[in-house]
Amino acid sequence: MKTFIGMLIVIVTVHSGWAQEPYEIQKIADGVYVFIAEDPTKDVVNGNSILVIGDNGALVFDSGTSLREAKWLVSEIKKLTTKPVKFVVNSHWHWDHWIGNQVFTEAYPQCQIIAHSSTRNAMMYQYPRFVKQALLTQGDMIATFKKELETGNHEGGDPLTTYEKKRWARTYSDLVKDSAETRQYRETLPTMTFDKKLTLYMGAREIQLVFLGNANTRGDAAMILPAEKILVTGDILVAPVPYAFGVSPRSWIGVLKNIASMDVHLIVPGHGAVQTDKSYVQNVIALFESSYEQVAAGRRQGLNAKDAITKVDIEKFRKIFAGDDEAKNWAFTNYYVKPMLDRMYKELGGELGE
Ligand SMILES: [Zn+2]
Repeated sequence: MKTFIGMLIVIVTVHSGWAQEPYEIQKIADGVYVFIAEDPTKDVVNGNSILVIGDNGALVFDSGTSLREAKWLVSEIKKLTTKPVKFVVNSHWHWDHWIGNQVFTEAYPQCQIIAHSSTRNAMMYQYPRFVKQALLTQGDMIATFKKELETGNHEGGDPLTTYEKKRWARTYSDLVKDSAETRQYRETLPTMTFDKKLTLYMGAREIQLVFLGNANTRGDAAMILPAEKILVTGDILVAPVPYAFGVSPRSWIGVLKNIASMDVHLIVPGHGAVQTDKSYVQNVIALFESSYEQVAAGRRQGLNAKDAITKVDIEKFRKIFAGDDEAKNWAFTNYYVKPMLDRMYKELGGELGE
């Protein structure tokens, strides 16, 4: 395992947000800024964005989960550089990474949007579904949260726990905040795609976009700044708890091992804090491998999915990832355990599908 002892890594917090603002801004290298989105364990999440300023223009990696957040990004980017954003990269098709595209093409009409070809295909399919679904169900969702908060009970009648009341209140407020603007969403797809690797030279600044294999999706774009030894992962890596919806577990482990062997100083995850060493990546690999081995053992014993998954014991990892924190425990159960073990069982039986 590589360590970074002796290397000088300076992360400067430029703008400390979250109380009022959607991001905290950190400068991680000359001309490289990370916009860290608030709390990856909540229900309505937003992805991190990264600004790379080149000699004659800038690149933004991931454009935010809402128009409100993307507008905030653009206004802050304009304070950091007068150069135009020439490229927006979308790491993958999940909407918390590309709904803001339209705000960037309005602010910077010449800007090109880049993604992996599978990501663009997925967006074409998912966007109409998502927008239609969001418009159809958003009012109902908001009404349900409101009712449950008012009555203090789930729809089925069970009382909300103290933690659930706190969580529901936050989700309700997040949903209400962006509900009106959902109708202004306009499908803004990538204008350029790549399959394996695309290298951009913005003057002296070299930026590599790479596909490392199926992982969080089947089209995750990662970004490498070779001179600065910075890796930006999209949701291949999410901290403090991995997101595992619709993933390809076996290949994802290989991608993470590749990342663990890369010569980089800083890793910027799709959500959560910038990693200054490889310890978090190693923990994620160990968690995935332990989960996979146990699900496979259940399969070998002929257990059905429910029984194989129930037998998996990853409590020691829960302590590492979530400790006693209620929100992290919630995320560990709902964003990792529930989707991941099911995906692993299916993959082992050749049932992942397309
Ligand atoms: Zn995400």
